[in-house]
Amino acid sequence: MNVEQALALIRTIPDYPKPGIIFKDITPMLANGEAFHVVTESLAAFASPTCAIAGIEARGFIFGSTIATYLHRGFIPIRKSGKLPFTTHSRNYALEYGESTLEIHIDAIALGQDVLLVDDVLATGGTMCAAIELIGACGGVVRDIATILEIPGLGGRARISALHPGIAIHTLISS
Ligand code: AMP
Repeated sequence: MNVEQALALIRTIPDYPKPGIIFKDITPMLANGEAFHVVTESLAAFASPTCAIAGIEARGFIFGSTIATYLHRGFIPIRKSGKLPFTTHSRNYALEYGESTLEIHIDAIALGQDVLLVDDVLATGGTMCAAIELIGACGGVVRDIATILEIPGLGGRARISALHPGIAIHTLISS
């Protein structure tokens, strides 16, 4: 199976989780072992030789973990509020469909460590920008961002590029 065939398994659910949102559901792609593998492999190609892999809860954990395992790298979880047991840095942010808070352990990343930041979908970019700030607060440096899918009409790429021009933004598909 090639990556295009794998990505074709992503389905669109209109009006979820609320009216007007066109939700990209990756679960049929995850359920196919060949598709899961080829998408993991494609995303892992965006990692630099020395970067750590960070993933954003919840769906960024799925591919962040598989990429980290595939590359024999460490995985850094960026979690929703109240889930991490040690001292955290915290950022509030606006979503396409609501508001949320992300957190990271203060000792999650070594000073100056390069990071590949992973999530499933790039929409408005609010989630990614919050996660980039959290990694920076720990002393890490996001060099690359990887998502499976980008929704270009929502401006996430432009927002991230304006705030963080040094970060390379990689997506497997734009829809
Ligand atoms: P944003 O912060 O607006 O870029 O939204 C990205 C985050 O929200 C990611 O963690 C996605 O999992 C989720 N998300 C936003 N919009 C969608 C969508 N249309 N379909 C699936 N997930 C989405």
